Amino acid sequence: MRTRKEVLGVAGAGSHHWVGDGFPVYNLFPSNGVEKQIDPFLMLDYVSPTEFAPSKKPRGVGEHPHRGFETVTIAYQGSVDHRDSAGNAGTIHPGDVQWMTAASGVVHEELHERKFTEAGGTFEMIQLWVNLPKAYKMSAPRYQGITAAQIPAVYWGRGASARVIAGELDGVRGPAKTFTPINLFDLRLAAGSHVKLDVPSGHQAALVLLRGELLLNESTVVAGPAHMALLSRDGDSVTIEATADSVILALSGEPIGEPVASRGPFVMNTETELRQAMEDYQAGRMGHLN
Ligand code: MN
Repeated sequence: MRTRKEVLGVAGAGSHHWVGDGFPVYNLFPSNGVEKQIDPFLMLDYVSPTEFAPSKKPRGVGEHPHRGFETVTIAYQGSVDHRDSAGNAGTIHPGDVQWMTAASGVVHEELHERKFTEAGGTFEMIQLWVNLPKAYKMSAPRYQGITAAQIPAVYWGRGASARVIAGELDGVRGPAKTFTPINLFDLRLAAGSHVKLDVPSGHQAALVLLRGELLLNESTVVAGPAHMALLSRDGDSVTIEATADSVILALSGEPIGEPVASRGPFVMNTETELRQAMEDYQAGRMGHLN
């Protein structure tokens, strides 16, 4: 029998702060306290559309490490230049997604693209952190630079569509390789459109509304910017009515259910592993940028 996922609650951003000098972010979680209900996702930062004046020096975050999880960067407007100690480098353009598995450890930098910096313009981006189970936390780093052209879409008509970044929707599979079952969809709903979104039973799930306004399951209003609706594990669909033109990131995944020990850029299972991560980084065992 098909049942609906319940809307457990709606939460705004718990904080608004700068990451480096390039990313003024709304932090949706964990600062709003919902992280246990959204395992395997650890963190979501959203840069809402922000104007940057032309400049000579790229803004962003210089060399820093990560271990124990994945960073997923989704560019909406403006571009990001990236390079890391595993030898990967690239530019994330609007519509592209970078899925970086830090796992045992990488050092990287994330900067506004040089061309974007010099021209100035509107910047909009999401960074999502995806946890790894203990079995993969110390595996080799991996880098998936996924271009907009590689991301298939589902079209429902009436200005409603979903780009399938990871997982599966209506028989369409996304290109991102994941370690645990995860769905990640970039939804665009024109005002007046109405869709029933399938979300697997057993997945913890959230709809992150970047811009717009929604009515979920005919009863819960979510108004942007930067609000999220948490959905129940049980149930396999949710109905979404857009009452304004809306941009939504739909995320769901099977919870990992393991202990989380987290400090800054490291997410492990225990305090001892966090201390080891810091020691390994300081000793240069996660490498350096050339
Ligand atoms: Mn980073």
